[in-house]
Amino acid sequence: MSTNPTIASNFIQNIIEEDFRNQKYGNKVHTRFPPEPNGYLHIGHAKSICLNFGLARQYSGICNLRFDDTNPVKEDVEYVESIQEDVKWLGFDWEDRMYYASDYFGKLYELALELIKNGHAYVCDLTAQEMREYRGTLTEPGKESPYRSRSVEENLDLFKRMRAGEFPDGARVLRAKIDMSSPNLNMRDPVLYRISHAEHHRTGDEWCIYPMYDYAHPISDALENITHSICTLEFEDHRPLYDWVLEACKFEVPRPQQIEFARLNLNNTVMSKRKLRLLVEGGHVRGWDDPRMPTISGLRRRGYTPEAIRDFCDRIGIAKSNSTVDIAMLEHCIREDLNARANRAMVVIKPLKIVIENYPENQTEDLIAENNPEKPEMGNRTIPFSREIYIEQDDFMENPPKKFFRLAPGQEVRLKHAYIIKCEDIIKDESGNFIELRCSYDPETKSGGANSGRKVKGTLHWVSAKHAISAEVRLYDYLLLEDNEQESDDFIDALNKNSLETIDNAMAEPSLVDAKLGNRYQFLRQGYFCVDNDTEPGKPVFNRVVGLRDSWAKTQKG
Ligand code: ATP
Ligand code: MG
Repeated sequence: MSTNPTIASNFIQNIIEEDFRNQKYGNKVHTRFPPEPNGYLHIGHAKSICLNFGLARQYSGICNLRFDDTNPVKEDVEYVESIQEDVKWLGFDWEDRMYYASDYFGKLYELALELIKNGHAYVCDLTAQEMREYRGTLTEPGKESPYRSRSVEENLDLFKRMRAGEFPDGARVLRAKIDMSSPNLNMRDPVLYRISHAEHHRTGDEWCIYPMYDYAHPISDALENITHSICTLEFEDHRPLYDWVLEACKFEVPRPQQIEFARLNLNNTVMSKRKLRLLVEGGHVRGWDDPRMPTISGLRRRGYTPEAIRDFCDRIGIAKSNSTVDIAMLEHCIREDLNARANRAMVVIKPLKIVIENYPENQTEDLIAENNPEKPEMGNRTIPFSREIYIEQDDFMENPPKKFFRLAPGQEVRLKHAYIIKCEDIIKDESGNFIELRCSYDPETKSGGANSGRKVKGTLHWVSAKHAISAEVRLYDYLLLEDNEQESDDFIDALNKNSLETIDNAMAEPSLVDAKLGNRYQFLRQGYFCVDNDTEPGKPVFNRVVGLRDSWAKTQKG
């Protein structure tokens, strides 16, 4: 998958290659991506997707998509659908291997009956509160449940009645019988099944007991012949339980092995489905695909490409200890991708009118502009020039400081692809606001012409007033301004109030009238933009993907 030869092989590749040498699974690599359908995928999931599907691709193996749908209360088909769309969009293919943990509910139940018969599981009536008390702590061993010594017959009877719906939620659980004094809390008779009279999005009301993740996950892996079951570091302490379940359920060797890696954290970014859901449900964003969201659908709408996201996932690599990646690196990846492939265009976001007094009243010239200076093969387009144009309000100052190389009274600038102009006069309203500027142009300085070599310090983007089309432009900033806010739970109070700025009357060069969903541009001097879904015929809406200043590339050089 990685197209970047400088990326060192990661420790998981080392494990796989060691397994090849020992012929542990023959030469097989079979991974899976196991999302819980309780929200939309985010950029952290993209890391896991690229890793799992990427390893399969690299070693000529296969990767399954498996919905880990064992918690009916929070799950929904809307999420199942969005997850499929996002994985495909990222460029990966599970072929005919899309599974659900709920496909295995029958098998999981039978295996639980076997565990009971073999003395490896028991029905426990302790309340949740009592279970916590019996569990002990990191420094104290736990106490055995008084129900631990129930007979196999009694356990079988109670478990079957749990399944038949005889007991209310929380009345009883099925627990593994392992070791209440284990130093690993996960091994102190963990819960395998709980009662929940909840409607499941696939199995309806067929089940009123649901398996726990730690029980369902290893078995799902084994049933699918997974070789390398890759998960994030917080499951490291669960690995002995993963192995115990497969052993106790008598799966044949070689069994799948769990391997943990560090999850992706990004500064200025909320990265947990639970918190993302709070943003959506609280109306703090427009939805899961709001361009400010770190969801894959949000990044897509923002204008990110799958190539840039995959490149980012390659570059951050795979590690065994948690760290936080600078979001500037993600932005660097999209900039690099779009620099190479986006057409250039001129859009004036906050317009200030200029009348070029010595330019003929009814004249229009079609000027030639290259679509992408990095790629001559992307061709040229024409841009109309006329007597009245718009420039950016910020590109003019009446009393400029030194080194202001833009427009000021008596000062000259070049208009990109056009002429050098000079500011002759300012027209103001009664309160002193600028209404328009009066300028002159030097006809000898046409870009590409004989005298175009005459140099002035500044070059501005502009549009012809009578040809320009009106566009809506949306500028984004981070939802979180402080890096540490992602940790706190009151992050809602700390949300950046100015994360979205909408300008509904930007002026765009006329070629953008045809801008279609999926098109991406570099607006000169403003950044990279994409066409938003809200676009209507004749009135494009553009999202700023990212500005032009690359703070990440800078820190790499310095
Ligand atoms: P969250 O904590 O954001 O709610 P999750 O871990 O509950 O995410 P799952 O749907 O269970 O979400 O995750 C599916 C897979 O994606 C898991 O294998 C999980 O380890 C991986 N994953 C989730 N978040 C990240 C992340 N930030 N970085 C890397 N992998 C992740
Ligand atoms: Mg999870």
